[in-house]
Amino acid sequence: MPKALLSVYDKTGLVDFARGLINLGWDLLASGGTAKLLMQNNLKVTEVADYTGSPEILGGRVKTLHPAIHGGLLARNTEDDLNQLHSLGWDYIDLVAVNLYPFEATVAKPDVTLAEAIEQIDIGGVALIRAAAKNHDRVTLVCDPSDYNMVLDRLTRKNLDEATRRSLALKGFRLTSHYDQAISRYLDGGQGETLELYPVQSLRYGENPHQSAVLLGYHPGDTPLGGKVLQGKELSYNNLLDLDAAWRTVVSYKKTSIVIVKHLTPCGVASNDDQAEAYKAAYECDTVSAYGGIIAANRPITAATAEAIKDLFVECIIAPGYEPAALELFAKKKNARLIEMPDLEIEPKVEYRSVMRGVLRQQVDLGDPDQSGWKVVTDKQPTAEEMAAMKFAWVACQYVKSNSIVFAKGETTVGIGGGQPNRVDCVRIAARHAGDKAKGAVMASDAFFPYPDSVEEAAKAGITAIVHPGGSIRDQISIDLCNKLGLSMVVTGFRHFRH
Ligand code: 5GP
Repeated sequence: MPKALLSVYDKTGLVDFARGLINLGWDLLASGGTAKLLMQNNLKVTEVADYTGSPEILGGRVKTLHPAIHGGLLARNTEDDLNQLHSLGWDYIDLVAVNLYPFEATVAKPDVTLAEAIEQIDIGGVALIRAAAKNHDRVTLVCDPSDYNMVLDRLTRKNLDEATRRSLALKGFRLTSHYDQAISRYLDGGQGETLELYPVQSLRYGENPHQSAVLLGYHPGDTPLGGKVLQGKELSYNNLLDLDAAWRTVVSYKKTSIVIVKHLTPCGVASNDDQAEAYKAAYECDTVSAYGGIIAANRPITAATAEAIKDLFVECIIAPGYEPAALELFAKKKNARLIEMPDLEIEPKVEYRSVMRGVLRQQVDLGDPDQSGWKVVTDKQPTAEEMAAMKFAWVACQYVKSNSIVFAKGETTVGIGGGQPNRVDCVRIAARHAGDKAKGAVMASDAFFPYPDSVEEAAKAGITAIVHPGGSIRDQISIDLCNKLGLSMVVTGFRHFRH
C-alpha cells in the first residue's frame, strides 16, 4: 500500500484530502496535531511517534525528524535502498502533504517578541519539503492546500507523472526559499529586501537584436503585463515597454480615451464618448509617429474603432476587451498583437528600475491626489473650456518623457514635445506638430519654467492658457510675461517628471 505523511499547520481541506487518499487505498501517517484532527473525523491514521517509536519532544520542536521518516522519503527507487529500509523495519513514503508554521504572519504582528518569532521557525516541515522535493522522482510533495484536488484527481486517473511531481517540487523549493528569506530579513531587523522574479517568457532579443532578453514576473504563472495575448506575432522587448507606457496613460483617464504610443512616449491622446472619434483625434495629433505605434484603449475596442484603425500599421493594441466584430477585423492584421487586460489598473503600485550595481524602487506616480490645489496666478482667468483642456493635457504630460510639453484643444492633444534635455525645445516641437491647431490651445508642462522662454514660445504659437507645477524662483517672471501677453496660467503644486 502506498504511504502518505501528513503534517500541516494550515489544516484547510486536509480532512477531505485524507479521506480521498484512504479511498484510493493509501496508508496515512501524521504528526500529532494533524493526526488528532483526522482521528476526530474517524479517519484511520498512524501517528508518526508510533511509526518511529520516538515520541514528539521538546514541545513540538522535534516531531518528524527521524530516519524512519527521512529514510522513507529519501530512499531511491532501487532494490538496494528498499532493502536497507526494510532491514530497519521501515518503508517508502510516497507522498507528503505539509505546510509550515506561519512565520511571516507572526512577525507581522505588532509587539511580537524574538522568542515568539523564533518558535515559529519551522524545522521539520522544511526538512520534509526538501526531502520530498529532492526525491520527486518517486515522491509527491503537496505544500499548497489548493493542490489537493488536482493531486487526488491525478492519483485517481493514475496520471500523476514525473512532470507534475517536478512542478510540485519546484513549488516546495520556492516556498522554503521565500520562508528563509523572511526569517533572515526579520533577524536582520527588517533590513534587506528581496525581489523574487519568475520567468514569464523568453524574448527573441532585447532592445536590439544582439542583446539577449527575457521577461520576468513578480509571481509564478504571470502573463505579459498581467494580460492575455489574443493574437499576433511574439511580443518583443520594445513592445512590452511601449505597451506598459500606453496602458499607464490610458487608464489614467476616466472618460473613454485612446492613447497612441511610440518609443515609450504618447504621440496622440484623446478622450471622446465615441471611441472611434477618440482614435481619429489621437491619430491626427501626429500621423507620422502613429505609424507602427501601440494603441491603448480604456474601454473594449468597438467595431467602429477597429474599422478606423484597419488601415494603419500597428504593432500592438491593448484594451480591456474587444467586440467580436473588432476581433474579426483584427484577425486580418495577423501580425498585430492584441492584448486583453483584466482590469483598468496599474499594478503593482511600486516600480523598479535597474542601475549599475543596484535597483531603484519607487511608488508609481498615480497623478495628483486631487486638483483642489490648482491656483490661477495670472490676471486673466482661464475659461471653462481652457480649464477642461488643461486638466486633460495635465494627465497626458505626466506620461510623456521629460521634459514634457503637451498642447491640447478640448480633450485632444494637438502637439506633443518630449524627451528633450531642455523645456523650450519641447515647446518648439509641440508647436511645430500642432501648426495652426495651436491657436487657442492650452499647454501643460510636467515641471516648472526656469525661464520665461517657454512661455514666450508658447504664446508665439497661439497658446492661450498654461498649466504647470510652479515652484521656480523665477516663477514671477513667467507670470508677468503671461499678464503682458494676455495668457492665463495655473499652477498645480505637483511635478510629474518621467525619465
Ligand atoms: P501538527 O499540527 O501535526 O502537530 O504539526 C504540523 C506542523 O509541524 C507543520 O507545520 C509541520 O511543518 C511542522 N513540523 C513537522 N515536523 C516537525 C519537526 O520535526 N519540527 C518542527 N519544528 N516542526 C515540524
